Amino acid sequence: MIPALMPTYNRADLAFVRGEGVWLYAADGRRFLDFGAGIATSSLGHNHPHLVAAITDQASRVMHVSNLYRVPEAERLAERLVAASFADSVFFCNSGAEANEAMVKMIRKTMAETGQPDRYRVICFEGAFHGRTLAMLAATGNAKYLAGFGPCVEGFDHVPFNDIEAVRRAIGPETAGIIVEPIQGEGGIRPARLEFLRALRDICDEHGLVLGMDEIQSGMGRTGRLFAHQWAGITPDVMSLAKGIAGGFPMGAVLAREWVAKHLTAGSHGTTFGGNPLACAAANAVLDVILAPGFLAGVERVADHLWNALSAVVEECPAIFEEVRGAGLMLGLKCRVPQAHVQQAWLEEGLLAVNAGENVVRLVPPLIVSAAECDQAVAMIRAACRRLASASAAAA
Ligand code: PLP
Repeated sequence: MIPALMPTYNRADLAFVRGEGVWLYAADGRRFLDFGAGIATSSLGHNHPHLVAAITDQASRVMHVSNLYRVPEAERLAERLVAASFADSVFFCNSGAEANEAMVKMIRKTMAETGQPDRYRVICFEGAFHGRTLAMLAATGNAKYLAGFGPCVEGFDHVPFNDIEAVRRAIGPETAGIIVEPIQGEGGIRPARLEFLRALRDICDEHGLVLGMDEIQSGMGRTGRLFAHQWAGITPDVMSLAKGIAGGFPMGAVLAREWVAKHLTAGSHGTTFGGNPLACAAANAVLDVILAPGFLAGVERVADHLWNALSAVVEECPAIFEEVRGAGLMLGLKCRVPQAHVQQAWLEEGLLAVNAGENVVRLVPPLIVSAAECDQAVAMIRAACRRLASASAAAA
């Protein structure tokens, strides 16, 4: 019989009842170091006092009013995001896929409103992940996710990641824009080369295309900069955010330059919950923390520490790990043994992580993680390596 909760996920048999900082506590009393952060989402960790206070305070005043009215918390959040980014204007929604949908609509509408209605196609990359709505399945382009869901939404062309000549070849008279993750997350923590991102910017300028950045996973401080594209010294025209933006409260956002944003006029797009007072209070609280002087520099410092420690583990355990990849606190360990075995061994040591493509285990801890907590995680990884090594010796 089907469970009441629809079985759309392969869930571990673990239920958490409480969290504190980087730690999660299970119903049976066990505690886990959370280096998955709810898939790179709990940016301030668990039970962060400032975030909890902001949500509690807002909930006690007003949670939801609808976009029929002004929402001061949303106006403030948008102004802060604009001040901290390339963007001139922000649209709020509730998830990553929804943010990407709005981004694609903005790209298409920009062309339609500037006398180029035939330009609607968007170039995306192999290995990308943009979400699970029908259009975002098409943008993702992964046959496994598309199977069984009927005709694929038209208008997305896929080329190999980090291959600028392939991008040039894919541009046609119907191309409207390009959407790229600066670091592919689900695809296996695959960073775009910085010169590739710069070349995409140049190509978009050359051809009048809109450059869209999917920073749903890589944004909001995850790589030690507020946005990962900043490492390349370029700016996109439009960018989607979600995951860490409100520290675990569901929220998405699209940030855009005026020449793109101005075409999403009243009535052309909308969502009931998008940017409601509660979500915006949460996101403003997250911004208070990550924009505080020195916070992102601290993320970078801890991330360097973690990178070095993981690199040492890779050297010590060449039969298990191939390499460390990623940037900031968006790191992956490419495994030589099935990553599910590695994750299970980590779990047994008390460490939570997330799988990714290309047999990679993702380490995406809360941004508030300390160097000492990284050392604890690495100690667990070492212990798990010994466990895996002795298991494979026993099997041989
Ligand atoms: N884009 C990227 C880069 C993501 O990592 C994800 C989620 O993993 C999404 C889009 C989809 O976001 P959501 O699951 O909130 O719809």
